[in-house]
Amino acid sequence: MIDIEKHPCFSIDAKGKYARVHLPVAPKCNIQCNYCKRDYDCVNESRPGVTSKVLSPEQALTYLVKLKEKMPHLSVVGIAGPGDPFANPVETMTTLRLIRKEFPEMILCLSSNGLNVAPYVDELAELKVSHVTITINAFDPEVTKDVYKWVRLEKRGFVGAEGAKVLLEKQLEAIKLLKMYDITVKINTIVIPGINDHLVGDIAKTAKELGADLMNTIPLYPVEGTPFENLTEPSAAMMKVIRADIAKHIKPMTHCARCRADAVGLLGKDDPEAAKLLNDIANMTVTADETRPYVAVASHEGLLVNQHLGEADTLYIYKETSQGYRMVEQRRTPPSGTGNHRWQALGESLSDCRALLVGGIGPSPSAIIGRTGIKIVEMTGLIDDGLDAMFKGKSLKTIKKADVFRCGAECSGKGTGCG
Ligand code: SF4
Repeated sequence: MIDIEKHPCFSIDAKGKYARVHLPVAPKCNIQCNYCKRDYDCVNESRPGVTSKVLSPEQALTYLVKLKEKMPHLSVVGIAGPGDPFANPVETMTTLRLIRKEFPEMILCLSSNGLNVAPYVDELAELKVSHVTITINAFDPEVTKDVYKWVRLEKRGFVGAEGAKVLLEKQLEAIKLLKMYDITVKINTIVIPGINDHLVGDIAKTAKELGADLMNTIPLYPVEGTPFENLTEPSAAMMKVIRADIAKHIKPMTHCARCRADAVGLLGKDDPEAAKLLNDIANMTVTADETRPYVAVASHEGLLVNQHLGEADTLYIYKETSQGYRMVEQRRTPPSGTGNHRWQALGESLSDCRALLVGGIGPSPSAIIGRTGIKIVEMTGLIDDGLDAMFKGKSLKTIKKADVFRCGAECSGKGTGCG
């Protein structure tokens, strides 16, 4: 039985008693906020978007098992980046599934920009995710457009007012769907002087009308190297006035600790020993379910992982032998035209495979097939490299497809994985 009263961020009584951990499994982002820069290695900085390491879903589960031994009072697992959970839906949903199986009583919590939440809401409800935070910095596209450099949805990039409209539309849809399942929705708003500070009360009013449960206002932290680096951080007095204003419309969150994407421990008292554990696990090889002997691959010619799952009539099935990898069969995929039954049938037919390597996969097949316990890896490159990663735990250098929003090309990040 999940006891949501043990959530230290949402229940003031739980704050000093129960710990939370953020699992940094989501490195890529699908929007570029003008206040954000994701760095992985800054141990002294406490703000969202920062983490020391990124973990695979299997590493994240191992980390959690060890943490729970050390911290029996750990009651919440959150995924909050360092990018966006739903810009990395395969990693996020796989992690949530692994945790729910191992820890049926764990409170699951997510923090997202809301752009790509909607396709996963059914599954979040099924996994009993109870808390979702959506960051909304304005409801007016003319204001929102000044907060984001670009927005990317379904491989299309949007900028300016068009990007703002796409983002807002998807955020509203996400809130509506989450509330249909009675999931607690918190709105995060970054208070940005000169941009949205005069609008925060209106955001609170609209958020309440949309069904959101509470709201957290966070003062802008001007980060060097971002377009907002020269703005002034809102003063404590200004934040006090703003919080009093939003309280007229919606329940305000009172004890946000502006957590890192790898935060762990009691709120405001992160556990330094856990940082070492995170580092150790990130360097550890944790492979997918080894009781499954095969790996399935979507490939046009049997050399490269280069096929989208939707266009694959057959999948190459590989096993590891003492003489190297051997292709044991080409297995037919179920015919198209049966909607999601096709993916359910494929999931069942791959029950002896520990992983599925694909050049591309849509959100529905990814969710349905992933539910069967197979690890789904989207990559391009040599099949052998993918097999090395799945059978030997070697790191996988995915060759990214070139697009106008490729990592580091358009944002202020260092090209270390923000997509
Ligand atoms: S800090 Fe945010 S994402 Fe993390 S556990 Fe608390 S409410 Fe959830």
